[in-house]
Amino acid sequence: MSARNGQFQPRYSALALLQARLSGRQFWRPLWGGHRLQPAYDVVVVGAGGHGLATAFHLARDHGLKRIAVLEKRLVGYGNVGRNTTVVRSNYLLPENHYFYEDSLKRWETLSRDLNYNVMYSPRGVVDLALSDDDMGRLARRGNAMRLAGIDAELMDGAALARFCPELAIHTPRRFDIVGALVQSRGGTARHDAVAWGYARAAAAHGVDIIEDCEVTGVDTSSGRAVGVETTKGYVKADRIVFATAGHTGMIGTMLDTPLPIETHLLQAMVSEPIKPLLNTVLVFIFPGHGETYIAQSDRGGLVMGGHLDGFPSYTREGRWDRLEDVVAGAVELLPRIGGVKILRQWAGTNDMTMDGSPIMDRIRYDNVFVNAGWCYGGFKAIPASGAAFATFVATGTAPDLIKAYALSRFDTGHMLDESGGGPFPVRL
Ligand SMILES: Cc1cc2nc3c(=O)[nH]c(=O)nc-3n(C[C@H](O)[C@H](O)[C@H](O)COP(=O)(O)OP(=O)(O)OC[C@H]3O[C@@H](n4cnc5c(N)ncnc54)[C@H](O)[C@@H]3O)c2cc1C
Repeated sequence: MSARNGQFQPRYSALALLQARLSGRQFWRPLWGGHRLQPAYDVVVVGAGGHGLATAFHLARDHGLKRIAVLEKRLVGYGNVGRNTTVVRSNYLLPENHYFYEDSLKRWETLSRDLNYNVMYSPRGVVDLALSDDDMGRLARRGNAMRLAGIDAELMDGAALARFCPELAIHTPRRFDIVGALVQSRGGTARHDAVAWGYARAAAAHGVDIIEDCEVTGVDTSSGRAVGVETTKGYVKADRIVFATAGHTGMIGTMLDTPLPIETHLLQAMVSEPIKPLLNTVLVFIFPGHGETYIAQSDRGGLVMGGHLDGFPSYTREGRWDRLEDVVAGAVELLPRIGGVKILRQWAGTNDMTMDGSPIMDRIRYDNVFVNAGWCYGGFKAIPASGAAFATFVATGTAPDLIKAYALSRFDTGHMLDESGGGPFPVRL
């Protein structure tokens, strides 16, 4: 248990539950909250998404910093951390990404225990489908690179794939053959809200102030250093400032008079009505004419689907109707049996797309101002590694090897981390 604002955060366990029941004590309390904005902090983290909360948690737990605040303009989990399709994996091609995302995947395996909160990590496998021999060659290359880095990857032919995912074996007519797949069995999903809530609760239990409804509107500087932030709740002094603002990072660049190689784009997702268990894994594929579709079944039975970006910069969280149609059409082509299932909900998030598709974890403009952004549409899976490594960077002033490749200077020197080989375009359709 830990004390916070005079309240105890009970450690969740079967025994604690039983003791609370027998003693008649009130067990369930708010996970965080009731914190008042203080006039000064050692570290102010801007943005209570996954990356901001995880950074704050590790700063407090691993580096013993005492005065930390996370300032969030809306609510914990209102941003992309609560809007994504929850896929976690480390099946990247480039070495820099291998080691970083594999570190993250290992942390997912123990995250529920580390946070004492069930994030529902489900290693059900991530299956990248090949619809042609060309696809198979491309996936074999990625799988080989992964295995050389010690990461699990299995190239399956059609028969092996049908055993791994029986739904694909059902012989309803499809317009395209499935030649095989690259499978990462340890990949899968986690519950996005639980990740936000789990980190918020754990950070608060370590003394972090989480202040919602508090927008940072400016950075105050003196003698070449940042000394505080202006917020909608007043001025706050800060020794170090961390921006983890995802889709709003372009605005932060403007605030700091430092243009960033980031564009904000919409990505939408949708979920069907709940149905009986049908899909035991995550399927990712590109159907000619429809673009990308990825699909998994949530624990509540809904089919969660997503695809490519909408294709134009925007801060709205709505989403183009024709993109939704493309994603659903792809899903029905692959799994014809779901043709009659109804879509229940659709939503969108604002993604901080960099010009090489890889994140930015660096200082920005001042020595004591840090930016953790550019997660594009793949930052959920990165949260555990990002929080731990970025906290080390902020606490010690030295970027750990794991994140050195994500420095902003790569855009000056040309050392891009372009996984897809798509060139300097944030939107690869
Ligand atoms: C539809 C969709 C599907 C996705 N699917 C996946 C997936 O399957 N797997 C995966 O790995 N990734 C996925 N992603 C990407 C992933 O969700 C993001 O990369 C990641 O969540 C971004 O980091 P974050 O959690 O810190 O961002 P956010 O949760 O967006 O946090 C940023 C926070 O900063 C706050 N903020 C901004 N400006 C200010 C300010 N001035 N003052 C105070 N607060 C501010 C915002 O309100 C927000 O809460 C998906 C994204 C979307 C939209």
